[in-house]
Amino acid sequence: MISTGDFVRELTRVIALALVGAAIGWSFGHVWPGAALGILLYALWQALQLARLSAWLSAEPEPDPPESNGVWARVFDKLYHRQRRQRVELELLQEAANIITEGAASLSDGVMMVDGQGAIIWCNTITQRFIGVRCPQDQGNLLVNLLRDPNFVRYFQSGDYDSALEIPSPTNTALRLRVEITVFGEGNRLLFIRDITMIDQLERMRVDFIANVSHELRTPLTVINGYLESLASMPGGVPEATLQRALAQMQSQSNRMQALVSDITLLSRLESEPPSDGRGLIDINALVTMLVDDARCSVGKELAFHVELDARQQLLGEETAIHSAFGNLVVNACKYTPAGGDIHIRWYLRGEEALFEVEDNGVGVDQADIPHLTQRFYRVDKSRSTDSGGTGLGLAIVKHALLRHDAALEISSEPGVGSVFRCVFPAHRVCRRAA
Ligand code: ADP
Repeated sequence: MISTGDFVRELTRVIALALVGAAIGWSFGHVWPGAALGILLYALWQALQLARLSAWLSAEPEPDPPESNGVWARVFDKLYHRQRRQRVELELLQEAANIITEGAASLSDGVMMVDGQGAIIWCNTITQRFIGVRCPQDQGNLLVNLLRDPNFVRYFQSGDYDSALEIPSPTNTALRLRVEITVFGEGNRLLFIRDITMIDQLERMRVDFIANVSHELRTPLTVINGYLESLASMPGGVPEATLQRALAQMQSQSNRMQALVSDITLLSRLESEPPSDGRGLIDINALVTMLVDDARCSVGKELAFHVELDARQQLLGEETAIHSAFGNLVVNACKYTPAGGDIHIRWYLRGEEALFEVEDNGVGVDQADIPHLTQRFYRVDKSRSTDSGGTGLGLAIVKHALLRHDAALEISSEPGVGSVFRCVFPAHRVCRRAA
């Protein structure tokens, strides 16, 4: 920091003071003490500058550098500039750290840093919701003292983090979490905690769905196989009556499989395909007339249909999806209403909303079953549904068809009294027919 020029100047200064001191001393007959006094004065000045430097460096907030001259002026100046540069660099670093911390804090995944001893260094805000750990309150605590799930403790202490760990959330058992750990620095660990509840549910739904479909297909396949085996093993030909009965049974089971496959296909299309561009005005009057005619022809029992339609209101949507939804509700009303029953079908306005309603005075369902009715393969009475050719997918189809129209399904029912299934369409889906 001190150049040769400075050194020479300071040397000159000390020599000059020594010479001045020697000259004054000489006039008093003490050359050497005079020179020593000159050097002492120089040393005192240096000591004074050091004291000013020390006072300046320790002052808070830092004042401007002290005025000086010679090498000390340059020392103060250089230190001042270096300090300013460091302060700017520190501010930039702080800013970068703030951005990183804020970014991590706003992540929807939990992030936590733990030191080599397992003590919490830092965590973002969502870790409180996931595992109940808060920063800065829990900083310095051992993580395993706060997250005591035995599987987690074993995983955390094993040091083998090749695969992730799935655990239930200790703060909310409905949440399922995936924990991943990476090691960095001197044994420090970085934890990523992700909410996988949704993925877990979807996976369970997928497994359940496959199990349900296999189960649904097993009965008709077993029946058809049984008939085929017994027909094949009959010596000397099959009697005509037996053959006809077998064919009728096989036909009915084959129809059941066909209905199941077409409902699964329809449901998957409703769930996965974006709403088609071919949306248009649906003439509910024509649609309901067709559904009631179909029902009358196929129901095979005496039922009275009462239709009340506000023919001025049209629906904006996908005709095929609405046809499936309304059709399933009408078919269900027929299936679950004994002969002699009444079925009311209504299409009307309630305030701004449009309602399609199917009311029957059939078997009804228990209050506890209502929230589950739109789940795939949920049946209140398995044998009744199967006997009437039900796939258990009808109301799931209704729900998804309505979702594509921003609509909702309202169900009210009482065992032995009857049921009302009501599709509620928002105002923007309703269009008044021009007079
Ligand atoms: P399913 O093919 O079994 O009819 P759905 O999904 O259409 O399947 O209906 C699910 C269950 O809801 C049915 O098994 C039945 O128990 C009940 N359900 C549906 N509609 C009615 C109704 N109108 N009256 C009584 N119960 C009904």
